[in-house]
Amino acid sequence: MKFIITGGAGFIGSSVIRYLINTTKHSVINIDKLTYAGNLQSLDSISDSDRYSFYQIDICNENGINNIFEEYEPDIVMHLAAESHVDRSIDNPDEFIKTNLYGTYVLLEAARKLHISKKEILFHHISTDEVFGDLKDPLKPFDEETPYDPSSPYSASKAGSDHLVRSWGRTFNLPFIVTNCSNNYGPFQFPEKLIPHVIINALNETNIPIYGDGMQIRDWLYVEDHAKALVKVATEGRIGETYNVGCENQRTNIEMVQSICSILDELLPDHLRKNSSFSDLICFVKDRPGHDRHYAINPKKIVSELGWKAEESLESGLLKTVKWYIENDSWIKNILSGEYKLGRIGVKE
Ligand code: NAD
Repeated sequence: MKFIITGGAGFIGSSVIRYLINTTKHSVINIDKLTYAGNLQSLDSISDSDRYSFYQIDICNENGINNIFEEYEPDIVMHLAAESHVDRSIDNPDEFIKTNLYGTYVLLEAARKLHISKKEILFHHISTDEVFGDLKDPLKPFDEETPYDPSSPYSASKAGSDHLVRSWGRTFNLPFIVTNCSNNYGPFQFPEKLIPHVIINALNETNIPIYGDGMQIRDWLYVEDHAKALVKVATEGRIGETYNVGCENQRTNIEMVQSICSILDELLPDHLRKNSSFSDLICFVKDRPGHDRHYAINPKKIVSELGWKAEESLESGLLKTVKWYIENDSWIKNILSGEYKLGRIGVKE
């Protein structure tokens, strides 16, 4: 099958593409604007495959998107491109409204035109558990029936994009599936997000800032397990359905940070001066406005219906992640220096 993946140079999109190219015979067209969050280096291991091609296009660019859809006639569109960082959505919501709402609309229209004129197509929209807002009852994690109640410009723009996708299904009969996933962690994540931020600050021996009291609870999923879930849903899921993706790994932020510090203490016992721990670097800073306290996913539907199950435990996934950041110093250095933006060779406009 032919996949179009949007946002394939990002954290989750690149994991999906590596998985598709390495373990299936499908072909992949990656459409990415290459914002600050897009990094083609994350795809170095598969970029030579003749089943992979990349186009640098903004999903808000109607002509560019229509041309690609007409030329490639994809069987499946997996839509991951988004502005994805909550703090940035508070500082500057503009790009979130454009990309997450208007960009999704442009893709839906391109898919609809193709569906009318030529062929079956599936629009798989990748979304987040943040659309549900703060968990009301800790004993009732979000399921597919939980009402939306987003708190930030990021989650509101994602909620809006989910509604657009479902309305294109209902009104125009566009075949679609929506997935809402919990917090991801793993290799190749941009350092502004909690886990890489903590690891990189610790390795640089600078303060590890934690918002508020650090007691916010998140439900953590290893990115490669998410990628496998997404491909399973796209190829085996029921049209018109929503699947919540998560693996019942709830931890407070401070627990996560302390776990990372303990792993670093074990792996790099000589990195700090004697008798000190990486956890000595932790400091608490003013909380972000509108910060949700608790997210948690009930993954029963995807597990029972599609037989998907996360393979990594939080312990094994965190260990792999910390080791990856230690061993991939050059990836981090390129990001921090901005050099990853210079090496954009072979980019088609
Ligand atoms: P990311 O920020 O790492 O990557 C986003 C990618 O989209 C980047 O490569 C960027 O260049 C590209 N992009 C941004 N604007 C674009 C535009 N206008 N046109 C084309 N490309 C554009 O994000 P991520 O963490 O990989 O998340 C991917 C998707 O999964 C997002 O839709 C996000 O809402 C969702 N999600 C993320 C998480 C998580 O924990 N990271 C959890 C659940 C759902």
